[in-house]
Amino acid sequence: MTGVTGIFTIGWLYPDLMNIYGDRGNILTLLKRAEWRGMTAQVKEIQRGKVDDLGDVDVFFFGGGQDREQALIYDDLKTYKQEQLQNAVKDGAQILAVCGGYQLLGHYYQTADGERYDGIGLIDVTTQAGKKRFIGDVVILTDIEGLQPSTLVGFENHSGRTFLGSQAKPLGKVVHGNGNNGSDKTEGVRQNNVIGTYMHGSLLPKNPHLADYLISESLKRRGDGALSHLDDSAELAAHGWILQRAQRR
Ligand code: GLN
Repeated sequence: MTGVTGIFTIGWLYPDLMNIYGDRGNILTLLKRAEWRGMTAQVKEIQRGKVDDLGDVDVFFFGGGQDREQALIYDDLKTYKQEQLQNAVKDGAQILAVCGGYQLLGHYYQTADGERYDGIGLIDVTTQAGKKRFIGDVVILTDIEGLQPSTLVGFENHSGRTFLGSQAKPLGKVVHGNGNNGSDKTEGVRQNNVIGTYMHGSLLPKNPHLADYLISESLKRRGDGALSHLDDSAELAAHGWILQRAQRR
């Protein structure tokens, strides 16, 4: 991995408002796994309002939030972040968006009371909240090339039902849980260097292979993106534990 030098930058969107169910663990995982490979890693907190150039960000993280928090940020996202995020992913940066963040990267999120929060249309998905919340463990099978194990595990808690348009493909197939909408067995999305998912928990500590995928993909614009091997026995034991628990339920 000697080719990759310089600073590895994580862009954290709305850390004060869109950050629930352990989402911060995703930031810590990306930071640590970059540092364990000898990179200097930093977090750029991206709050509301006009922002400076985000061209140096390698991986963006956009966490979840209740309807109230989404109402506070969706207009800001459209006004001040949309263009920069579109340019960043075009340039090879990666975005990981969870639940409420995932929903607002789509075309819109409509609450159970019929209020519509416009999204930025970076991914071809729409979301409409239902009356019943989907809560519990989630296990999916993903077809991300070379990802081992091919399972991803997490925890969902959402009222939104998300449907994928023709431009978007799912992150994976639901083995346990509800996923996007509780009916079509899809979970999450993959499109334009964006990964969206309903999996909180937090996601990356129990799925180190997905964390490395995001880091490696984001570094390809600087070199081959190859990462040295790490001992993930503890992380994968936690992964396996959720698999077993889900099978028991
Ligand atoms: N408010 C959204 C919903 O209920 C997102 C919730 C979340 O981020 N966990 O679906």
